[in-house]
Amino acid sequence: MNAFEKIQTRYGEISDLGNASALLSWDQQVYMPPRGAAARGMQLATLSGIIHERMTAPELGDLISEARSEKLSGDREAFLRELSFSRDRSMKLPATLVKEMSLEESKAFEAWARARKLNDFSIFAPHLSRVIELKKQAAECWGYQETPWDALATDYERGLTAAKVEKIFKPLREATVKLLQQIQTRPQVNTKFLDQKWDIDRPREFGLRVARDIGYDMGAGRQDLAPHPFCTNFGHGDVRITTRYSQTSLLDGLFGTVHEAGHAMYEQGFDPADARTPLAEAPSLGVHESQSRFWEVRISQSEAFWKHYYPILRQYFPGQLDDATLEEFYRAINIIEPDFIRVEADEICYNLHVIIRFELEVRIFRGELSVSDIPAAWNDLYKKYLGLDVPNDSKGCLQDVHWAYGSFGYFPTYTLGNIYCAMLVEKMEKDMPQMWDLVAQGQFAPVLQWLRANIHKVGRRHEAADLIERVTGQPVSCDALIRHLTNKYRHLYEF
Ligand code: ZN
Repeated sequence: MNAFEKIQTRYGEISDLGNASALLSWDQQVYMPPRGAAARGMQLATLSGIIHERMTAPELGDLISEARSEKLSGDREAFLRELSFSRDRSMKLPATLVKEMSLEESKAFEAWARARKLNDFSIFAPHLSRVIELKKQAAECWGYQETPWDALATDYERGLTAAKVEKIFKPLREATVKLLQQIQTRPQVNTKFLDQKWDIDRPREFGLRVARDIGYDMGAGRQDLAPHPFCTNFGHGDVRITTRYSQTSLLDGLFGTVHEAGHAMYEQGFDPADARTPLAEAPSLGVHESQSRFWEVRISQSEAFWKHYYPILRQYFPGQLDDATLEEFYRAINIIEPDFIRVEADEICYNLHVIIRFELEVRIFRGELSVSDIPAAWNDLYKKYLGLDVPNDSKGCLQDVHWAYGSFGYFPTYTLGNIYCAMLVEKMEKDMPQMWDLVAQGQFAPVLQWLRANIHKVGRRHEAADLIERVTGQPVSCDALIRHLTNKYRHLYEF
């Protein structure tokens, strides 16, 4: 065995351990009885300790240096590049800091939950300050050019910096705020017919049917119920999703299922030859999100999609949708309505929620905003961008758990996902002018094939921005997303 083959064997085992740990945490969220939590926590900690040990083992470092002196193919070079990146990143953090961060984050999580319940930011504030302090220390270990935020964002979207995001987001923010103001001068959309009680099982059956139709392979996946919808991968041939449904909402469960199926179809589409290597992964969270948002927003909230599915949906709910025409239904599911909560926000407001968090994070890490001033700054931006008066911090800066977990630099990936997605759709429309006719006939295979060839099979061979530019021929910008939002909502709201 040469050095590279030895690395392959070692990494294969690290990947197996990671998948075993993913299975344990999937079970924790789906089936585990409540009293199993403590033992499960220990099992997960033990596994993550072993993974860390193996990733940072000096012998692996020696093998990487040795392999670099061998003549390597492009794929092998990409394998080593990705492995070294992850390895360097975990090696640069002292074990004491990792431990301290994980302890602080669980304390901060509890404080956040209590603060949100009691609507009292002051309970969370000291913990948040501590988490930020530790994150700044981590950023110092990793190194950065302009702001510690840049070093943190690298975990989710390599190469991303606050300055780059500011440049990409600014035109989007301006265009979106203007669009929203225009929409608000237009007559309100009728959604009354959606306010009904729905059979609890039928939406799930319909959602699963759609997931299968669009190409989620149930021979290599399954769907279970869980409090939070997510997608998880246990290695080639086993990518699962979870979902939740309610009797009061016909479509949230469907859109959630399609979103997670989009993530899952991406991972089902990795090249089998890349299994157990760092190449069978997405290059970034933004690219991952571009795949889920593609199916959720661009496909399952499109007019073409409902041309095919609305008659079918009506059959699932006999008599309940008789009064609403296809056009009324399409308008109702695409209603624009500013609200305080990011989750389940409409297509236009969603990005504004993300941009607000990004702007606050950057000010925090540039030392321009202190923790105690976060609620006021938050409320200020909600007024400015969404025209809303935030009634309390539970509906304001305490609504998301991410900061308690120290996930700074994470939010922009949601909007980057929408931006990448819009760019990919424009290219897809050029390559397949009949694309929307196919969708209207319920034919999704050619669309999935396009994604497989251009995005899924490529895995982690290129960095996100590079991949998007290779596929679309354009550097990353929000232009395509602005074009899409403007066209769609001008048509829907008639202005
Ligand atoms: Zn997602």
